[in-house]
Amino acid sequence: MLSSIRSRLWISYLLVIIAALTAIIGTTITNLSRNPLFYRQAVLRLHVAHSTLLSEILNDEELSFAGLKRLIQQSTEFEGIRYALISITGEVLYDSSAGVYPPIPEFSSPPPTTGIDPIAFDTFRDIDRKSWIYVLQPTKDNTYLLAASRQPVVEIRTLLRDEIVQPMVKGSLMAMFIAFALGLFMSIWIGNPLKRLADGARQIESGEYPILEKEGPQEIQELAESLNQMSQRVQQTEKSQRDFLANVSHELKTPLTSIQGFAQSIQDGAASTPHELMQAANVIFDEASRMHRLVLDLLTLSRLEEGTANMQFLPVDLSMILDQIDEKMQPQIQTAGLLIKKLIQPDQFVMGDGDSLAQVFTNLMDNAIKFTPRGGLVTLRVYSEEDSVIASVTDTGTGIPDNEERRIFERFYQVDKSRRGGSSRGIGLGLAIARQIVISHKGEIWASSYPGKGSTFFVKLPSHEKTNVKEHWQNQ
Ligand code: ADP
Repeated sequence: MLSSIRSRLWISYLLVIIAALTAIIGTTITNLSRNPLFYRQAVLRLHVAHSTLLSEILNDEELSFAGLKRLIQQSTEFEGIRYALISITGEVLYDSSAGVYPPIPEFSSPPPTTGIDPIAFDTFRDIDRKSWIYVLQPTKDNTYLLAASRQPVVEIRTLLRDEIVQPMVKGSLMAMFIAFALGLFMSIWIGNPLKRLADGARQIESGEYPILEKEGPQEIQELAESLNQMSQRVQQTEKSQRDFLANVSHELKTPLTSIQGFAQSIQDGAASTPHELMQAANVIFDEASRMHRLVLDLLTLSRLEEGTANMQFLPVDLSMILDQIDEKMQPQIQTAGLLIKKLIQPDQFVMGDGDSLAQVFTNLMDNAIKFTPRGGLVTLRVYSEEDSVIASVTDTGTGIPDNEERRIFERFYQVDKSRRGGSSRGIGLGLAIARQIVISHKGEIWASSYPGKGSTFFVKLPSHEKTNVKEHWQNQ
């Protein structure tokens, strides 16, 4: 029960209230126990007694010092108030309670009077460190009359009972009610949207993908946003997995049907002449090779995506790689009736795996040859730009529609599936593999194309300084 947001909020409010009340009661008691208001009764009594005795003394002109002492003594016995006569030099001339209480300390010269305000008073401490409140006024013959009584001790318990506890209890009950209401409000404000998010997460788990509403406090809205993004990603991943399976099955089904058909025609004797048999064997071989290629490409791609491809990163000259590819692919270029132009700056070093990078440009060249009609031109460029080396393959072929320039790097994506046909038809994995290799080299690959006029594929890789190359080989 205590694990719910509501109860925790309520408990925390309650703790805050208890802490606040303790602080308030503590300071109130300390302040009240020092407050002169509590001595008002005693001070008033002192004033009344003092002024009565003072007027008696002043009215009796013939009063001797002995008579004065007697008069004071009588007043003390009658009222229980301590009187004293103080000289102008602050010395205590007579103390009505001498011997009963410790002596009154000496005053300064002249002694400071306490004024005529009926609540004005002052205090002194005796040698037992007991506090006294007193009033002091001049009488005749340069003497002063002091009336004093022990400073009353304020009973904390009475103070608590009369002044604090009752209002505090009322206040606390009210505060608790407010805390409960606030706790309820906060739990609805925070708890309900959270509960809805939890329900949404459970729905995602069971394969539904609801769009969660952004409500409640900012942090919960951000959580809803993240959950929505996550659910979108999960949905996309699921879709791409389904597409992937469908594509692989389709790519395997087509050659398998072909192989099955031609194998059967041999079995049935439908293909019986040496020419027909050779034709069937060729188709079976081509389709089997295609399936072999597909499986190899899929393996390469999955190794690259998992990061388990066996790559050896060394300084390699991209210019040299492109030169070698051009040389190696001359037969295909000739057969396709294409011209080739090379604008290659020498010594363009990058840090990479030579074989993998060669595969990237072989795939790009393959496509350029495949999608460029006879008489077309393929241009290879390698140049440096700031801290990068850029290599590009430009053709004057069919080009790629604007909205598909990015999609062609997806697995199995082919712009025009109807172009497929014949044993050399593509699978749609070449660019996905190239992209994955470039990514693992911390580079970028993109296409820019004018449909009907041709395309350029760019590969941008971080350059590796020649000096670094020397150092690299020296360190080997
Ligand atoms: P494949 O070439 O095996 O079909 P790729 O992944 O290499 O697969 O290419 C994917 C698709 O991108 C191709 O089917 C084609 O539609 C398009 N494409 C790639 N290169 C070019 C190019 N140079 N000119 C026109 N289209 C291209």
